[in-house]
Amino acid sequence: MPRYIYLNGQYVPPSHASIHPEDRGFLFGDAVYEVIGCIHGHLADETGHLDRLERSLSELHMPMPVERETLRFLMREVLRRNNQKNAAIYIQITRGAAKRDFKFPAPDTPQTLMIIPYDFNFDEQAAVHNGVKIKTTNDIRWKHRDIKTVLLLPQSMAKQNAVDNGADDAWMVDPDGFVTEASASNAFIVKDSKIITRPISHDILRGITRTAIEKLCHESNMALEERKFAPQEAYEADEAFNTSATSLIVPVISIDDHQIGNGKRGKIAKFLYDEYRAYAEGLRGKQVHWEPGL
Ligand code: PMP
Repeated sequence: MPRYIYLNGQYVPPSHASIHPEDRGFLFGDAVYEVIGCIHGHLADETGHLDRLERSLSELHMPMPVERETLRFLMREVLRRNNQKNAAIYIQITRGAAKRDFKFPAPDTPQTLMIIPYDFNFDEQAAVHNGVKIKTTNDIRWKHRDIKTVLLLPQSMAKQNAVDNGADDAWMVDPDGFVTEASASNAFIVKDSKIITRPISHDILRGITRTAIEKLCHESNMALEERKFAPQEAYEADEAFNTSATSLIVPVISIDDHQIGNGKRGKIAKFLYDEYRAYAEGLRGKQVHWEPGL
C-alpha cells in the first residue's frame, strides 16, 4: 500500500482510513471504480477513464461526488504526497452509507470517494514479454458489463479457476460459446494479420486501452475486425493478446493448453505495445475520448 490514500476529503495513511459499516459499496457492491496508469508521470488515457467513470455513475443514477477537475487534482495530489511517478491509481465511488435498504438513500447522502495509488512499475512487467496462459470458463456475470461496477466476484472466481488449472488468467465464454473478455481485460486474436475482437455491447466492458488500440490500428492501417470468436477459433490464431490500463498489451501464449503461434510474444502484440506506450506517455497524438458506443 502507498503511504497515503485519499478518502472523503482527507489524505490519510491506509491504517487510519475507515469506511462506514453501512457503506453501500460494502453491503451491495453499490459502487463504481476506475483504474488509471501513471506511467513516468503521465496519467495514461486519463480523459477516457474519466469519461467512462462519469458514464458508469450516470447509468447507476449517481452523481460525480466532485467536479472532474477536482478529481484530476486529487489524483495528482495523492501521487505527489507519495512521491510516485509510476502507479496504478484506483478510484472508487460508492453511493455512501445509509441504513441497510435496497431502496436508494436520500440524494443528499454523502458519497464515498477513495483514491488508492498503488506503486506500479510499468517498465518491469514480466507478462508483457513472456505472455500469459489462458483458461476459458463460463461467463456468469450480470447483464450490464459495460458499467464498471465493483461487482467483481464472477471475475475473481474465473481468475482463481484459471490459476487452479495451471493458467494465469481466464477468458469468459457466453452461453452461445463466444469469448466475451478476460477477467480484467479485453481479449483479441490475430489471424492472417487481421486483429479480431468482440464488438461493443452490454456483454463486455469497452476498455479505454482497447479504444486507444482502435485508434492506433486505424492510424497504422492495420485491419481491426469487430466480431465474436469462439475458443476453437482462438486455438488456431496466429497471435492472441489482452489489453487493460495496467497490464497494457499482454500476449496470450496458450489457451486451454493449446499453444498460440510459436508460444512467444507475437509481432503485432509487440508493435501495439510499443505504440501504446508512446501514446500513453504523451509522445504520440492526443488522448482519445471514450464513448459507450452502445
Ligand atoms: N474488461 C474488464 C472486465 C475489465 O475489468 C477491464 C479493466 N478495467 C477491461 C476490460 C479493460 O479496460 P481498460 O482498458 O479501460 O483498463
